[in-house]
This record gives sequence, C-alpha cells and structure tokens, in this order.
Amino acid sequence: MKPLLHPRFLHDPFGDPGLYVGVLWERRAFLFDLGDLSPLSPRALLKVSDIFVSHAHMDHFIGFDQILRFRLHDPRMLKIYGPPGLVQNVAGKLSGYTWDRVDEYPFVLEVYEYGESGRSAARFACSRRFQKEDLPDSGFAQGDLLSEDWVRVGATELDHGTAVLAFSLKESTHYNIDKDRLRRQGIPVGPWLGELRTQLRSSAPGEKPFRVRWQDGDTPREQEKTIAEWCRDLVRISAGQKIAYVTDIGFTAANQQKVANLAAEADLFYCEAQFLDEDRDEARRRGHLTARQAGLLARQAQVKKLILFHFSPRYRGREEEIQHEAEEAFGGNTATASPVETESLV
Ligand SMILES: [Zn+2]
Ligand SMILES: [Zn+2]
Repeated sequence: MKPLLHPRFLHDPFGDPGLYVGVLWERRAFLFDLGDLSPLSPRALLKVSDIFVSHAHMDHFIGFDQILRFRLHDPRMLKIYGPPGLVQNVAGKLSGYTWDRVDEYPFVLEVYEYGESGRSAARFACSRRFQKEDLPDSGFAQGDLLSEDWVRVGATELDHGTAVLAFSLKESTHYNIDKDRLRRQGIPVGPWLGELRTQLRSSAPGEKPFRVRWQDGDTPREQEKTIAEWCRDLVRISAGQKIAYVTDIGFTAANQQKVANLAAEADLFYCEAQFLDEDRDEARRRGHLTARQAGLLARQAQVKKLILFHFSPRYRGREEEIQHEAEEAFGGNTATASPVETESLV
C-alpha cells in the first residue's frame, strides 16, 4: 500500500524549520511551520490547505508573507493553526501592508489558536482588506485540530519559555478491497465498494447488515452479510502512517510526557536537536533540546525513525556528531533532515 502522505523537509538542518507534506493523488499539502519558504515552487505553495505553526519566533513565521503573496488570487481557503497569540500575530503581519484595489480578490484566511491560555479564531478576507472578523471559539476537542475521514492532525502545547505547539499527522487505517477475492466470489465492482469503505471508516466492523445488489446478465442478484463478514471476506486492513513534528521545547518532565503521548509509535518523528549535550546548560536556558535528549524522546515514544533538524549554526561541520549522539540515546533508525528527498516512511 502506497502511503498517502509524502513529507519533505525544506532546508538542511541549519536552515529554518519547515516540513511540507504532500498528499498523493490530490492537489493538497500540509505545511508545518512557516520559516523561509523559498524552496517551494508556486505550484507547491498553491497546494497547501492547512498550515500548522509551532510558534511565532521569526525562524518559524517569516514565510507567512511568501505564501500570502502567492495565494492572493486563489479562491481556496487557507487555514493556519497555532498557539495562543497567533491571531494577533497574523493580524499584525496583515496590517503591515496597504490593502486597496483588492475588492475582487477571493482569498480568505482562517486562523485558529489552540492552547491552555486561549482559543481565539478569526477570519481575514482579502476582499474586506483583511479586517479581522472573530469566529466562535475553535473548541478543538483534546487537541484534534483537523479531523477528516482519512486523516487527523493532533496538537499538544509545550513549554519553550513561550507556548509552542507540537503536532502529529496520522492517516486512518487503510481498507483495501482485495479484487482477486471479489472476482472469485463473482461479484462485480461498483459504487457499493465506496459505501462499504465509508461504513468501515465510520465504525469498527460490526453486526450491521450490508446488502450488495448487482446484475448477472439479465438476472438481478443480491447478497447480504454483516459489515464484519464483508470485511473478513474482501478487505485487507493496514495501519495508516503517522508523522510527528516537535521543535523548540525544553527537556522538562511535562514536555517529555506530552511528547511521548503525541508521538507514540510514529513512523517518522521529526525532532529538533539544537545543541550537543556538551552544551545542555545552554539548551536548558534557551528552552531547546540537545541531540541526546531528542534521542531519549524518540526512545520513550517508541518511534520507528527519528529525523533531526534545527541545529545551531555553531555546529557546522559536526552534523555527524549530532546524529551519532541522538542515535546512541535512541538506539534506533536516526537521520538528519535533508531538503533533497522525500523522506521514506519507515
Ligand atoms: Zn523558538
Ligand atoms: Zn526555532
């Protein structure tokens, strides 16, 4: 089964943090953090539907203008999610420009905050010169920022001196119809397969009856089984992929626990490693992780692969040392973020 999510890091580990996740077969992508977006083509920028911002420090937010500029003529709505204060940060950015002659522009931006100290939400329409319009409290249940039938984005608030969000992106379980088994049973494909998949996604296979009707030449035929029976006879189930993105956090007990929950058993765990452990006192003062601490988090969350990013520029030339330190603490598959390739899942 091909994964639907195709993550790609935007910069080398010394560049701005930024993870672009394209969706297979769809004109859609998710973006984690808004640092320098210049590696993204206009086409890639136009695919972005949802942006998840960890916090508004400059290296995570300076790309806002870049995507705004490309999207002004685009009728598709853009949603941005981030920690408390983000609505104000976006309003501040937008108020830095003169907006006239934009009445015809269809672009609309919605901003949603999640966190302990605030959950504001607001809409900014280009045709209204980006005047802020308050939306009802986002009220995300337990950090579920986005929930669609095939994908879910969760968030948790962490401490970096300021509030920071970390994110997990998880595909739903795949239900693949085994076409050979279907053929052997003499039932033709049809729209009913889509209905069966919807039923499977909406609830665990159950005792609910599900009837299939088809034409066998001139003879109408039908067969009824429970959803669980159809599932057993025709469906191959495989787990969806999970990606976690964690950056700019201190190695506190509370942060460790929250990351372990958020990133549990992720296929890909993107984690900052700003410092080497020899500089752990400075890491603590600045609310960042060392490579060793990133490795310990990966170990605690039992992830399949750790990918490191956001190295301090002082370590240029010592990338291997950073990776080695994290790998030793993790004891598992460890890599350093690279802007060139799409990261393979697992
Ligand atoms: Zn920061
Ligand atoms: Zn940062």
